[in-house]
Amino acid sequence: MKLTLKNYSDIVGSSVIDELKLIGEKLRDKKIQHINSTRVGGGVAEMLNRIVPLFKEIGIDVYWDVIEGDKRFFNVTKKFHNALHGSKEHIADEDFETYMQASEGNIKKINIRGDIVYIHDPQPAFLIEKRNREKWIWRCHIDVSTPNEKVWGFLLQFIERYDASVFSSPKFTRPLNIPQFLVCPAIDPLSDKNRPLSQREINSVLDKYGIDKTKPIVCQVSRYDYLKDPVGVIEAFKLVKKYIDCQLVLAGNRAADDPETDKVYGEVMERAKGVPDVHALIIPPEHNDTDINALQRASMVIIQKSIKEGFALTVTEALWKEKPVVASSVGGIPLQIKHRYSGLLCHSIEGAAMQIRQLLHSPAYAKRLANNGKAHIKRNFLLTRLMREHMLMALALSNEGDVMYL
Ligand code: UDP
Repeated sequence: MKLTLKNYSDIVGSSVIDELKLIGEKLRDKKIQHINSTRVGGGVAEMLNRIVPLFKEIGIDVYWDVIEGDKRFFNVTKKFHNALHGSKEHIADEDFETYMQASEGNIKKINIRGDIVYIHDPQPAFLIEKRNREKWIWRCHIDVSTPNEKVWGFLLQFIERYDASVFSSPKFTRPLNIPQFLVCPAIDPLSDKNRPLSQREINSVLDKYGIDKTKPIVCQVSRYDYLKDPVGVIEAFKLVKKYIDCQLVLAGNRAADDPETDKVYGEVMERAKGVPDVHALIIPPEHNDTDINALQRASMVIIQKSIKEGFALTVTEALWKEKPVVASSVGGIPLQIKHRYSGLLCHSIEGAAMQIRQLLHSPAYAKRLANNGKAHIKRNFLLTRLMREHMLMALALSNEGDVMYL
């Protein structure tokens, strides 16, 4: 079924949709272009896939382009990603050269079609070299509050030539000589990833992956990435399993711009050896969204034991499905979970294990957290709010005069 904006009024109210259309009218003569580094996998692709068609419906000319890069380039940008999050990485001078080489190819290939150009994350940041009369926005989805200074210093030569930057949390911002906007990510409540599913649909996904329908499921949905700490999740699960007969589902897919998947997955499989009831799944792209939806809905507890995070849409998705969540207190997660009100925030493997046990043991408490979580997501983190902020930012930047903050 093709979704239209009208479908969203049942959830957010018709006045919200009317307002989006009104703001959209003011942008009718503008072209908006988004550029990132992958169409599949990860939160950025997730959001662009959903907002691009809805903006088109409003009547805005919106384009989405993706840069190209070989394995060497994505190895370097993954290192940059980790280093910007504050992880220890050895960054060599030749890494910067590799980044610049791939930039040259993309600068030739990518056609700038927008009056307003959104560049997502560091991978395509160099495209600012193509700047002409457009307004350029650097949308940073990662936590750069404690970055590797060498990488950050290198990227600044590009970033400070943008008209504005956007961060997901006030904690992520840096001193910059360009305006900074705060825009939190959001989920689409009606996408295949989040729409309600029947028990039959959920069961068929569990059967497909050989998951026991009678044992409680604890689940983490994430790319196989060190910063998502899947090995830590297995360690926490082992502690829980001593007391409660439950099963662990790790669900991950591949992102074209993430070269570490196989290595991390190999380590996960190694650590899971001999641990009963661990399902470490690689979800095929054809069924990804419904499968993830079903696995989240089938779970008793969702865990997100990240070491570093951007916003963690996986937490948003779980809370929207009214699931109790145990998640690390990092990145944008505390914007979504208030400890003991809309979920539980953990700081260690042992803490995570204790909290999972608490939720499995106390369904009434788990339900209360989950209810509060869903209400919080409904108020703050649905796609319509994101669309509104995108449009207001585009308007603010395209008007003459000073840039306004939202
Ligand atoms: N995701 C998915 N399939 C998987 C693993 C993750 O579709 O096997 C999705 C997940 O549902 C979420 C996004 O990828 O929508 C991950 O976004 P998040 O902000 O949590 O993390 P990122 O990968 O961007 O660091």
